[in-house]
Amino acid sequence: MKHLFFGGIHPKYNKEMSTKITEFRTITPKQVVIPMQQHIGAPCTPLVKVGDHVLLGQKIGDGEGLCVPVHASVSGTVLAIESRPHPTLGQAMAVVIENDYRDTVQPGNIPTSREEILNTIRDAGIVGMGGAAFPGNVKALSAMGKVDTLIANACECEPYITADDSLLRTEPEHVLEGMKILKELLEPNRLVLAVEDNKAAAIEGLRKLSKQFPEIEVAVLPTRYPQGAEKQLIQALTGREVQPGQLPVSVGCAVFNVSTFAAIYRAVRLGKPLTQRIVTISGEAISEPQNFIVRIGTSFHDLIEAAGGLHDRTERVISGGPMMGIAQKDLSVPVVKATNSILCLLKDLNGAAENPVCLRCGKCVGVCPMKLQPLYLYRFTKAQKVRELDRLHVLDCIECGCCSFTCPGKLPLTETFRLGKKLLREAKQK
Ligand code: SF4
Ligand code: SF4
Repeated sequence: MKHLFFGGIHPKYNKEMSTKITEFRTITPKQVVIPMQQHIGAPCTPLVKVGDHVLLGQKIGDGEGLCVPVHASVSGTVLAIESRPHPTLGQAMAVVIENDYRDTVQPGNIPTSREEILNTIRDAGIVGMGGAAFPGNVKALSAMGKVDTLIANACECEPYITADDSLLRTEPEHVLEGMKILKELLEPNRLVLAVEDNKAAAIEGLRKLSKQFPEIEVAVLPTRYPQGAEKQLIQALTGREVQPGQLPVSVGCAVFNVSTFAAIYRAVRLGKPLTQRIVTISGEAISEPQNFIVRIGTSFHDLIEAAGGLHDRTERVISGGPMMGIAQKDLSVPVVKATNSILCLLKDLNGAAENPVCLRCGKCVGVCPMKLQPLYLYRFTKAQKVRELDRLHVLDCIECGCCSFTCPGKLPLTETFRLGKKLLREAKQK
């Protein structure tokens, strides 16, 4: 049975733009910049020094606590260890490697026991690849024996992005095998792969595999943004509501992105750490929109050039999608583990007005999937009234952008709530 989540919108999806070219292209960068922070948690400390020769897949940074290692995505020589531009953090310490074009591989281990599998997921540097970048081993460990439903998230509900869709069209077995690996660890009763109904070719491919993977259910959901958000997806699939401040495990669910499952498969069965990923390059401002298999650390600039370059009138380059992505000023930033898309736009789709005015129409309230009151959150953030922000649960805002998209007054709602959340967190710390 399918359930509806509250709110949501139907933006123009423009996904066909990047799926006209069906073959993946790869590019071989001359140099990669591997940031030491590509996950939520503590940054890695470099394990190499300038001048070292490194192998493809060699661990080059690691740390303690909530941290997963990072690996060389090419073989070659370490040119520098220094602070470099980062697509989500502004700046971060990075190891710069000059490619020797030999791809000399560091051999990996194939785990056998459950404990070894969990360690391998960590050692391979697996993080949530749908954008969250939460360490995969920690998420798996926290759900072991506590969930009855394991969900593979293939909704990819943001406009333009087709990275997960192309993964499912080309290597669905890797995703399904990854689900079987996590089934061994988490022991759920139900395994479900959730996909929206605008991915017909992927759905057809998955249905052809149903005999080979009978334990995995494919749930086709009506397309609606932001269905790929964890809480909304759980509600759509199970009818269960994750309460504010709670995690999916509180309602017996664990959700991983399909690219994460494929990365787990490659790590556990093939001994390959996370050194590459699929990235969509799309938007009206790029010459040849398509999907690439990209080595982590490749610059946005190199990828944009490989896709035919930018239009003269390009206004915005975004890491991620138009709803939740982050605008980039410096195209030397590298692709990191959570980069699923580089979006090149001729105009800012959700641009705020110069003098925005709230018309008190209430439209933002009707579309907010978290049942918040964006118009009041906006007013209280502007007035820096942190108590009111707390009372109205600003921290529950998932920054989906539905309110900004809908607002006829063109108020910069979502970006204001980022500030509101920061203000409240700082006040709580004090
Ligand atoms: S950005 Fe936040 S307030 Fe706006 S619709 Fe999404 S969850 Fe609601
Ligand atoms: S949608 Fe915009 S104009 Fe309408 S109430 Fe919300 S903030 Fe105000």
